[in-house]
Amino acid sequence: MNYRHAFHAGNFADVLKHGLLCWIVDYLQQKEAPLCFIDTHAGRGVYDLSSPEALKTAEAGQGIQKIRDRDDVPAPLRPYLDLVRAQGESNYPGSPLLLARRARPQDRIVACELHPQEAEALRSATGHAPQLRVLEVDGYRKLPALLPPPERRGVVLIDPPFEQPDELQCLADAFIRAHRKWPTGVYILWFPVKDAAQVARFRDELRSAQIPKLALCLLDVARPQGLSASAILVANAPYTLETEWTPTLAWLARILAQGDGATSRVEHM
Ligand code: SAM
Repeated sequence: MNYRHAFHAGNFADVLKHGLLCWIVDYLQQKEAPLCFIDTHAGRGVYDLSSPEALKTAEAGQGIQKIRDRDDVPAPLRPYLDLVRAQGESNYPGSPLLLARRARPQDRIVACELHPQEAEALRSATGHAPQLRVLEVDGYRKLPALLPPPERRGVVLIDPPFEQPDELQCLADAFIRAHRKWPTGVYILWFPVKDAAQVARFRDELRSAQIPKLALCLLDVARPQGLSASAILVANAPYTLETEWTPTLAWLARILAQGDGATSRVEHM
């Protein structure tokens, strides 16, 4: 377990993932009924963008820092940007902190983080918020026991570190199992797009599991070296996902492009 999100916080993949997460939460909160948010791989909640780790990769400079002060940001990104701006310039909020900031008194967050130091950092970053439970557990293993949540409405974010070669398979297995237990939850799965054959196998597997209402959001920033493309799979997305996010992703591809040929798309699977 060597992965530290501090090296990558606020990069283009985080912008995509956190932008969609906040937009979905905002959409679901149009109803007063309580929501449950489950973050299976939560991280430390807040990242110092002036830390040696962040400065070493400078990934935030190619991500959030390119958009945080713009005034032409598409509306679907605003719930996310409002939270990022409120955090101050040198701190970047990770997924459990974004959720903690958005949670209403009736909402609940379960954050799983296997690394003890990251879990402890998360507890202090969120000020031991009453709606948030931080569990120092394997999020994949814990997830089935958390489903379906009593609220029967909410979001599961599965955002693993992709340190293991079979991580995409683990992600597919965990999602299919979770979906069987709670077919009406909104699921947000992040994965890197590196190996086309592996991604095709992942999609085939989900197709053969016959899970309906799957949408894929893809952003490729044409980065010359390192991770260039990442994707978010959303199950049971708000019905406006395609109309609102097709132009938003195109805007992100243009603003965050690191070379020629940056692309984006939203497709149904
Ligand atoms: N979701 C976070 C965000 O968007 O701000 C970033 C999470 S980072 C990509 C992955 C995190 O998962 C790391 O903090 C790592 O320590 C943790 N982790 C690795 N394996 C895990 C597991 N099996 N269960 C729970 N957490 C795990």
